[in-house]
Parts: sequence; C-alpha cells; structure tokens
Amino acid sequence: MVKKSLNIGILAFHGDVIEHEQALKKAGENLKINLNVIWTRTKKDLENLDGLVIPGGESTTMQKLCDEAKIFNEIKKIKNIFGTCAGAILLAKKVLHKTKNQKTFELMNIKIDRNAYGTQSESFEEEIETKLGNINAVFIRAPKIKSIGKNVAILAEKNKEILACEEKIGNKYYLATCFHPEFTSPIFHEHFLKHCL
Ligand code: GLN
Repeated sequence: MVKKSLNIGILAFHGDVIEHEQALKKAGENLKINLNVIWTRTKKDLENLDGLVIPGGESTTMQKLCDEAKIFNEIKKIKNIFGTCAGAILLAKKVLHKTKNQKTFELMNIKIDRNAYGTQSESFEEEIETKLGNINAVFIRAPKIKSIGKNVAILAEKNKEILACEEKIGNKYYLATCFHPEFTSPIFHEHFLKHCL
C-alpha cells in the first residue's frame, strides 16, 4: 500500500527555512499526503526522517553549524535529500571556488561552481521551463552546475546551463536546484515528496 504520511526535515540553522516549510505544506496538500515537517538541528531530529530539505543560505556556514551540532555524518545517511542553492552545493561531490576548509556531504555526482552568477546584487528572477512545468526561478548569488555524472538526470536547463537535476543511487535519491523554487511554486517539493513515499 502506498504510504500517505511523511516526516520531512528541513535543516534549520539558517536560510529560508520558513519558505521551505510553506512550500512543503502546499505540496503535501496538493498530493494529499499527511506531512510532518521537522525543523532539524540535532541527531534526534534526524531520526525517522523520510527526507531532508537543505535550504539556501550560505553553504560554508551551514557546514560549520552541522559540524558543531555533530550531525555532519548523520546527514549523509539520510535516504532522500533535496538541496536548493547552498543546499545543492552541500550535496555536490565536487565544488569550485570553495573557501579554505570548506567541505560538503559529497553525495551527488555533480560539479558545482559557487557564486558563478556574480555577487548578491547580481541576483535575478526569471521564468524557466523545467521537466516539472514552468516556474518563476529566483537566483540569489546562485551556483552553476558545471557537469553531471552519468546517472544524474537534468530537470531544467537554459542556454546549456543545468539549473536542476536529480540522481538515484540504489535506495538514495538526491534533488538539486541552483535557484529557489520555495519562493514561487511547490512543484519541486511535490516531485521530492513523491520520491520519499
Ligand atoms: N552563495 C551561497 C553559497 O555559496 C549560496 C547562496 C544561496 O543559497 N542563495 O553557499
């Protein structure tokens, strides 16, 4: 029988946690899933999660806070993870323009370039086509996905730039977007929840 209830965590040290919670709730309603959203900061919070969202924010800061909370290695065990912007950086196996001592979870077979669209003031918003439908995509000091492994599927690209992709490795599932879908539409959250069922 299909599971209709999910425990979804949002890594809640900083970044756009509230917006992800709202998008997840909307997605849950649309899919008629009974959703329990957990603001995740401790090992205990990570127990029994069906999936985890890593929000946008600052990848270096989030990494340090995960280290301090001693959950860096625990997060690597989560089966389904959705990373937006800084979250996508944290999922990537390879990162360009890392700061000194920056590390990531190295879970997803993508190479990503931090801050590749320029500074904060060069942030922008534009309508893009994706395999899940059109979305108004918000890019805030966003990274660019420079290359992907052979098991990674592209969900959105524009002018040969990969903007969103997903990877299934055994029973693990990872979803990454360079932009922030949580501000404008629940379509990526719905897609993620379907994989967590
Ligand atoms: N530039 C940030 C980083 O490297 C990401 C920005 C964002 O998440 N909007 O972590």
